[in-house]
Amino acid sequence: MKDTRSFPFAFFEGNIVPIETAKVNIMTNALQYGNAIFGGIRGYTSSDKKHTYIFRLEDHYKRFLNSLKILNKSIRYDLGQLMHTTLELVRKNQPKTDYYLRPFAYGSDFFLSPDLAPLTFEFALYMIPLGEYLSITKGLKLAISNWVRINDNMIPSRAKISGGYINSSLARGDAANLGYDDALLMSADGHIAEGSGANFFIVRDGVLVTPPKYGDVLEGMTRRTILQLAHDLDIPTEERNIDRTEVYIADEAFLTGTGAQVAWVAEVDGRKIGTGKMGPITEKINKLFFSLVRGKQKKYSDWLTKV
Ligand code: PMP
Repeated sequence: MKDTRSFPFAFFEGNIVPIETAKVNIMTNALQYGNAIFGGIRGYTSSDKKHTYIFRLEDHYKRFLNSLKILNKSIRYDLGQLMHTTLELVRKNQPKTDYYLRPFAYGSDFFLSPDLAPLTFEFALYMIPLGEYLSITKGLKLAISNWVRINDNMIPSRAKISGGYINSSLARGDAANLGYDDALLMSADGHIAEGSGANFFIVRDGVLVTPPKYGDVLEGMTRRTILQLAHDLDIPTEERNIDRTEVYIADEAFLTGTGAQVAWVAEVDGRKIGTGKMGPITEKINKLFFSLVRGKQKKYSDWLTKV
């Protein structure tokens, strides 16, 4: 099992408190109905280990607040306060390793109905040490799931809604039971959408391709980052639908996400992707990504918050 023990302090009900006291009642509406939204943000240690860099902090909280807006809900903190609280918590926990921050806004009332209108949302934040979430070295084996990705008029994938993650859980769980590392989900119209917790890219004939923002995917921060890096590296990109069989004949493929980082894919549905080794475009992007998140690329320092 991965080490998921938290750092000692969390932000809960307006204060920084010991994590073991950050507890909710079993009657909490979010717990019953999935009425909650969350984020996931990484902190990376600098190469000299003297401090850490939080990756795209402001952008992550903008998406967090947009997820709430889609639910037509709000919390008592604005963007600036959320960022400030995050820095306070990181300083208090004094991380010496890479970490993952989990901001969470949840329906905290106890009433008995899945009714968003009267529901009050509370904000909480905790952090855990996190190395690899998916292997970034061995080459993933994926299966295309027969669970269909939730769509925008069902549970919007664009918002990071807790209840929607049952869709990911089913796909990932079944893939794992069959011996795969993760699942790829298709949208209702039969195109590739994304992984259970990551966006998906393929390379065909030198072009980097990923499903569009309107393809029932989460608008991933890493996805946005990779598209920018490809642009800067003069790698042509396309945001368009990807057919299942295009994946089978792709030259390269990888998943991206805060947890996943850039995780290359060796095999999908038993078909080897390209040579079955990490491809040259993936490698180029990979190198730049892992060096910039540790503050080694001045050009991208605007994406980093030093703590
Ligand atoms: N899609 C899904 C379903 C996810 O859960 C995640 C992880 N947040 C991503 C994509 C990647 O998004 P990001 O790069 O912002 O972490």
